[in-house]
Amino acid sequence: KYKTAEKKFWHPMSSSAPGNQARRLVIARADGNYITDIEGHRMLDGVGGLWNVNVGHNRPEVKAAIAAQLDELAYYQTFDGISHPRVFDLAERLTSMFAQEEMARVLFNSGGSDAVETALKMARQYWIAAGQPGRTRFLSLRNGYHGVHVGGTSVGGNGVYHYNHGQLLPGCYHLDAPWLYRNPWDCRDPVELTAYCIRQLEEQIQFLGPDTIAAFIAEPVQGAGGVIVPPEGYWQQLREVCDRYDILLIADEVVTGFGRTGCMLGSRGWGVSPDILCLAKGISAGYIPLGATVFNRRVAEAIENAPGFGNVIMHGYTYSGHPTACAAALAVLDIVEREALPDNAAKVGARLNEQLQPLSERFDVVGEVRGKGLMLALDLVADKRTRQPIDPTEGQAARIAEEARKEGVLVRPVGSKIILSPPLTLTTDEAGMIVQALEVALERQG
Ligand code: PMP
Repeated sequence: KYKTAEKKFWHPMSSSAPGNQARRLVIARADGNYITDIEGHRMLDGVGGLWNVNVGHNRPEVKAAIAAQLDELAYYQTFDGISHPRVFDLAERLTSMFAQEEMARVLFNSGGSDAVETALKMARQYWIAAGQPGRTRFLSLRNGYHGVHVGGTSVGGNGVYHYNHGQLLPGCYHLDAPWLYRNPWDCRDPVELTAYCIRQLEEQIQFLGPDTIAAFIAEPVQGAGGVIVPPEGYWQQLREVCDRYDILLIADEVVTGFGRTGCMLGSRGWGVSPDILCLAKGISAGYIPLGATVFNRRVAEAIENAPGFGNVIMHGYTYSGHPTACAAALAVLDIVEREALPDNAAKVGARLNEQLQPLSERFDVVGEVRGKGLMLALDLVADKRTRQPIDPTEGQAARIAEEARKEGVLVRPVGSKIILSPPLTLTTDEAGMIVQALEVALERQG
């Protein structure tokens, strides 16, 4: 069924794209933490959509909020002085959720890539308003992922996404990620590694000149790059360096926001307040697309106090503050808070992590199991000693994922990693199901 129609639906990672036929999965329905394919196979959603179905599927509270909003006002724009109550409700909700970070203003958009692009433009706008228009460059980390728009692709630190574009945005510089398992210094000590990374950052800033740099952007835990958890203390030192050179700090919390790492914000988990937050995914948990760029009082005041309208970048989307998306987000955030999902992610994630650790002792192919909260990865290696990753073109990760699927659990193969990002509503029993399925899969394919 759908085999002919399927060829017409395309993007480079779609089921019809080369190499993906073997892992074809057509999902018909979903409820709670489970999905069901068109042939009726039900399985545990170990992937959570794409890091975003944080409150589980088919929640009656979210559906009711969406239905009520559709009755009242499905859509209206927010340009030309026009707005609607839901956009105020959600802006108020987000600034009070992030009052500790002194977040003051929210610019809504349609998803994570938009949230990043908006943040980059806001950072440049801030410096124009602050009278330093020469600050236009961006610093970021290798292995980072910041969406698919030109700015986000350019600050993204994974070469795979840099092909076939022609020239990317000039003035983007990538630094080594604070990654204990693989780093250019072969350093296994978290304090030393942090020092190496911070020194490299300072050298880069001094080389470029601080007064040319607009912002540093990074994910509090790198997701698409393979769930790279920086050492405790790295983000605090990063904040200090940004403060010393007066560089804005943008946290791309598209994945880490709203509880995934076991804290409401990934950056809060590191004890740091960024200047700008990029939010999407978990904000509306997959029910309706939504993104938000949230900026603190420092950025807001500079922009709002800048003389003349000419200082304001013209930037907004047809769907900025889509009423039905905002209504869905408000209902999702009610669930996140009522069910204390960040705490559940911390608790169940720690248990899952602990139960998965023995796999790296039992199977030669599992180099490391790592993660924070319900954001985890198995790093697959060809050689445990050298930590050489498996050749991603050989499809071993996909075969392991396929076997796990036969055991009733969907996990996500990405290159040489198996990624886990289940709904934050995952129970400890369900965590056990993931462990068991991976164990069986590795026995067959490892
Ligand atoms: N930033 C990060 C950290 C992400 O993981 C993603 C998506 N995986 C994005 C930005 C882009 O979000 P979207 O796909 O909604 O545009």
